[in-house]
Amino acid sequence: MIEVKNLRKSFGKLEILKGIDLNIHKGEVVVVIGPSGSGKSTFLRCLNLLEQPTGGEISFEGQSITAKRHDINVTREKMGMVFQQFNLFPHKSVLQNIMLAPLKVKKQQAAEAEKFAMELLRTVGLEDKRNAYPAQLSGGQKQRIAIARALAMQPHVMLFDEPTSALDPEMVGEVLEVMKQLAVNGMTMVIVTHEMGFAREVGDRILFMDGGVIVEQGTPAEVFGKPKHARTRDFLSKVL
Ligand code: ADP
Ligand code: MG
Repeated sequence: MIEVKNLRKSFGKLEILKGIDLNIHKGEVVVVIGPSGSGKSTFLRCLNLLEQPTGGEISFEGQSITAKRHDINVTREKMGMVFQQFNLFPHKSVLQNIMLAPLKVKKQQAAEAEKFAMELLRTVGLEDKRNAYPAQLSGGQKQRIAIARALAMQPHVMLFDEPTSALDPEMVGEVLEVMKQLAVNGMTMVIVTHEMGFAREVGDRILFMDGGVIVEQGTPAEVFGKPKHARTRDFLSKVL
């Protein structure tokens, strides 16, 4: 579904991504772990061109999205993204937040958009919050709404950048549970997280990034159980 070849990204003279090669298959759950500053967010943001790569190539569903003539807006509709900060529209209700992009971008009919939004609210367990405003929600609820909002565009892949890092500990579980259900239902996902238990349980593949490269990758059993590289072992010894 996604092919990344020799992806590079520099900010000024500083090279942050130093040649990343990766194929992500349909239905696969790829979890990216690694120390702060290793380039995880930059990598995720390059996948949907929130950051413009300075080298290499990215293809999505067989089309080069880094080619000059590619219309990235069409591709972005198929890539949902969830950030650490929830970025909900504060002056819109939960339902309006979820319906906005389907109405504006997909030109859906209001009735159709609302029906799907309600379905998504059921999926994330927040039907009763349909008329609430973001300020009335807990952090965990806001993040579940942010996930529902991304799903409203019926993306083919979901990108998560530390979706639980800004949450109080007691709210982490409810968000991870929603993500786990998505994974079980076959969603293709790329997830940056420090939740190692979740990574182990839900990830099909773990990527360990450090210094702008993928140092090591494998199944959770391989990476967590028998890490090959000293840098991976060192990182895991600090977080496990
Ligand atoms: P991670 O998500 O693994 O913590 P990031 O991808 O956020 O790492 O950042 C990797 C490096 O790139 C950091 O040193 C960061 O300061 C730098 N960086 C990220 N975004 C920018 C930017 N827009 N301009 C300059 N440097 C940046
Ligand atoms: Mg980051």
